[in-house]
Amino acid sequence: MSRFKAGLWGFVLPALLIGLLISCSGRQEEALPARTSVQAKELVDHAAEFKQEVIRAADGVYVAVGYGIANSILIEGQDGTVIIDTMESAEAAWEVKKAFDRITAKPLKAVIFTHFHPDHTFGAGIFTEGKKVDVIAHEKTLRELDQMLSLTQEVTYRRAMRMYGTFLPKHEFENVGIGPFIRFNDKATISYVRPNRTFSGKGMKLSAAGVDLGLIHAPGETDDQIVVWLPGKKILIAGDNYYKSFPNLYTIRGQKYRDPVAWAQSLEKMRALRAEIMIPCHTRPVSGTDKVEETLADYRDAIQYVHDQTIRWINRGLLPDEIVERITLPPHLASKPYLREYYGTVAWSVKNICNGYLGWFSGNATDLNPSPIKERAGAMARLAGGQKALLEHAEDALKKEDYQWVLVLADAYLALEPGAEKAVKLKVEALRGVGRNQGNANAKNYYYTQAMETEGKLKITQAQVNPDVVERVPLGAIFSAMGARLDPEKSLGVTKSVRFRFADTDEAYTVHVRLGVAFIEKRFAPAADITVTVDSNVWKRLAAKIDSPAAAYAMGKVKVEGGILELVRFLSLFPG
Ligand SMILES: [Zn+2]
Repeated sequence: MSRFKAGLWGFVLPALLIGLLISCSGRQEEALPARTSVQAKELVDHAAEFKQEVIRAADGVYVAVGYGIANSILIEGQDGTVIIDTMESAEAAWEVKKAFDRITAKPLKAVIFTHFHPDHTFGAGIFTEGKKVDVIAHEKTLRELDQMLSLTQEVTYRRAMRMYGTFLPKHEFENVGIGPFIRFNDKATISYVRPNRTFSGKGMKLSAAGVDLGLIHAPGETDDQIVVWLPGKKILIAGDNYYKSFPNLYTIRGQKYRDPVAWAQSLEKMRALRAEIMIPCHTRPVSGTDKVEETLADYRDAIQYVHDQTIRWINRGLLPDEIVERITLPPHLASKPYLREYYGTVAWSVKNICNGYLGWFSGNATDLNPSPIKERAGAMARLAGGQKALLEHAEDALKKEDYQWVLVLADAYLALEPGAEKAVKLKVEALRGVGRNQGNANAKNYYYTQAMETEGKLKITQAQVNPDVVERVPLGAIFSAMGARLDPEKSLGVTKSVRFRFADTDEAYTVHVRLGVAFIEKRFAPAADITVTVDSNVWKRLAAKIDSPAAAYAMGKVKVEGGILELVRFLSLFPG
């Protein structure tokens, strides 16, 4: 039942929150000396964008930049303050709070979340200090936050750790594209406060601390995204619908489809406000009505351009890889500093749009039923003149700094001989080689981190779960994740059901294992092999492996009809 352990932490970073990548084919046409590609240099210079400071954007409006991956915004009103977004951890929030406390001692009246991502929500408790204040969000944000457990969290956690370069040594790490670093790891503290005031539909107006605020639903990087409008000062707080980088229309940590059409429409809504100052929730504010207008119009056009041109080529019968080769931003957009590919990339966006509209199949019959990896690797080795020759080709390509080709050849060799030392070494050198010249932070961090993993210097494991957080996850999320934790071989001959009654919350669930499939019902089935009566928090702690079922049973915290050993055996069918 380690699902819980894995699950929560998967959420933490993935939800937290992309390059020039290599040229279209992924091959470097010309070898570049270490660290001198224009893009890699630009990524280094981009750090100026996150210089740590509290910027006074206008009278009574302050932005903390560079304290973590995201910004936190302080609005000082007549009789109190409002905080918009609260950083990724208690540690990051604490630094921001200290800086804000030097500006004003007025009491906090409200916290607003622009969206659910942990880098905007997990430091909230540091600002609220346990006091009862309005914590305001769109109702979709509340729903997302309540679903802390998603089915793919383990994998997205691992991929997020790579993309943010969390475990990289200093000399291999530059920044995270939209912030200096992510102030979150397995030792960080989550200080999340659940929103207590939500709104549905297009928006709401409110007055907090004497300041008039408009909250406008503006789906973009996420569906729950809102932007905040201060009509009195003509300030627009953009959430993550704008930051100084080509937008992350696809995140390589892996998440649900991000709809470019909705994002472009929201930018149009933002433009219509004619803001004098725009404060993004990553990177620095943009000042001047004309500048804001130009920025938003360009951002919108870039998104629409990539979307529309992808669709156009799809309809003309091109394959995703061919489309990637054809689409680059037109020069008037590509040259804008806020459309450089520090975080998102055009190429990854194109593929995401293909996949969003058409699914995985490229359209080419060759791709319908590809031969197994090992078979292809064997054929490649034969073509090269044998397995040894495969390795020689890879060595040769490494000398020519054709890193992408080294990766392909090394992977083929490793498919034939897993763990082969020479191939591993070649792969590691190629990963570092290709990583070195990246102008995209996510790509760079991913290449370097995977190099460490490939050479056996890093194993990304799940972080320990904070019991506090465990108890906040709804039972439904725990049960709905169970199906995907079932061991199909162990359970192939098993037909058994367990029903759970949670007296404290008046909820019930039944788990039926039927020959390799776990079917979950949100009800107390009329009959079952085992009946468990337990309080919800006790069960959550068992599910998270904080406590063991046998110990909880011995302490009388779990009542079992049908035998505790039978229950333990049943739960062991779900190793994850
Ligand atoms: Zn963010």
